[in-house]
Amino acid sequence: MDYKELADMIFPDAKDISYYEEKYPERDLPEGAQVLRVAPSPTGNVHIGTIDQALIATKVARQTGGVFFLRIEDTDQKREVEGGVKQIIEALKSFDLEPDEGMISETEWKGNYGPYKQSMRKDIYQAFAKHLLEMGKAYPAFDTPEELEEMRARQEASKLRTGYYGVWAKYRNLPLEEAAKKIKAGVPYIIRFKSNGREDRKIKHKDIIKGNVTFPENDQDIVIIKADGLPTYHFAHLIDDHLMGTTIVTRGDEWLSSVPLHLQLFQEMGWKAPRYAHTPTLLKNDNGNKRKISKRKDPEAAASYYEEIGVPSLAVKEYLLNIANSTFENWRRQNKDKSIDEFDFQLNKMSVSGALFDMVKLGDVSKIVISRYSAEEVYDKSLRWAKKHDDELAKMLENKEYSLKVLGIERGNAKPRKDIAKWSDVKENIIYMYDEKFFENSIEYPYQVISDKNDINKILKLYIEKYYNENDDKQTWFDKIKELSGEMGYAKEVKEFKANPGMYKAHVGDVSTVIRVALTGRTNTPDMYEIMKVLRKNSVIKRIEKAIEN
Ligand code: GLU
Repeated sequence: MDYKELADMIFPDAKDISYYEEKYPERDLPEGAQVLRVAPSPTGNVHIGTIDQALIATKVARQTGGVFFLRIEDTDQKREVEGGVKQIIEALKSFDLEPDEGMISETEWKGNYGPYKQSMRKDIYQAFAKHLLEMGKAYPAFDTPEELEEMRARQEASKLRTGYYGVWAKYRNLPLEEAAKKIKAGVPYIIRFKSNGREDRKIKHKDIIKGNVTFPENDQDIVIIKADGLPTYHFAHLIDDHLMGTTIVTRGDEWLSSVPLHLQLFQEMGWKAPRYAHTPTLLKNDNGNKRKISKRKDPEAAASYYEEIGVPSLAVKEYLLNIANSTFENWRRQNKDKSIDEFDFQLNKMSVSGALFDMVKLGDVSKIVISRYSAEEVYDKSLRWAKKHDDELAKMLENKEYSLKVLGIERGNAKPRKDIAKWSDVKENIIYMYDEKFFENSIEYPYQVISDKNDINKILKLYIEKYYNENDDKQTWFDKIKELSGEMGYAKEVKEFKANPGMYKAHVGDVSTVIRVALTGRTNTPDMYEIMKVLRKNSVIKRIEKAIEN
């Protein structure tokens, strides 16, 4: 019996690998174009890390005129969740990260290198496994799970490296006839790679992100085809990234230590290995300890969370770019109006260690992103969000004309308002501008420096009776508040007040605050002049009268 016969016996129906090499020819791409992919497992609740991976891969693909594709890695079918593929497709779409090629539903794909779902590629893996068997670079192994467990226990007890290597690789040199006999007898088996690596030799690898790393060679006879006929991650990576023409494998840095094995596999197949870029894990600060963002513990780990709370997907992407390249922040400051597509992302400038993902900083980025939106955009996006998540806000926004004015306050100018980080902030930010809401419940008036009821009432009365005129321009409007301050014996200028602190009880700013609080119930609002313009005379008078009444 020779290797070929054994291979035929194991995979009688597998095609010759030349079939697949022809079916999936090398990609015809311009010089320098890179092919990248994102390769998530359909385990449900897409992780924000997948979005991060997809963003990075898309950036490089777009910048080089290359290809970005989606491959579904579902070889671990125990972990698969119903609808998992669809969730991934939807999540990428919601972040505007649609791949050029890949699965478009559970069973269909676009692109010439499909199927892009590993469970649909069984015949391909088996053909290549057969090829390795024929070359004597793979073999069937008949260990039961219990035997492997026992082996591991023995290795641990003797403080030895665990795994299937050297003398521990029990079936590595089993005579082919005996292997054939076991197979015929129906003994279950898996296919292992026959490693010729040596643990005492080193290999060097230059990772695009991690730089030069040195590892011992791989000497483990890893499993390539599992008992269910599906490949392991390692083997699927080898076959898929070869046939799909991936030029740069971007993936989480938990895979860095597998590089010696992967390079070895490519070499044994006589293929050119892709370049690797191992991306830092997204971490979170948990009471001073940095740890991985976890789907179990952290709501922000779910890609869908951002839509739920109303953070625009663009803000999430900007923040991820911020974390990915420290040069992004500066670029953004200097290119306020450019699309992030124009940012020149560099894989080799990513941080080598973990990347801290901080919801507060994301909020700050989001505030800036939203501040760049027009009132119309804020209106459309918050309405769309509200229709799904907040009926009260949706109802308020029904009055479109008025809402556009409200949302237009301090927007579209050189220093736009930055008080909205997510659509769920909008209601709280604008609710007092709607009369029906403002007068709905009893109003609290948090007056500040000037808190004497008589003084407050005098100021408010005088203001509407003598000074307020809806048609005043901003300068006149403010001059009048100064006049009013003077008339009431307060300093007309803050300077004046500071120069003679004993002379005045308060100053023009404090008088403004009284009016602001009366109008809005708040001490902190956007520009009061603009607010009054939007409220219009009727509402202004009504609000001030109500405040006097109180
Ligand atoms: N399915 C692998 C994972 O979930 C993908 C790693 C890769 O991109 O190669 O981590």
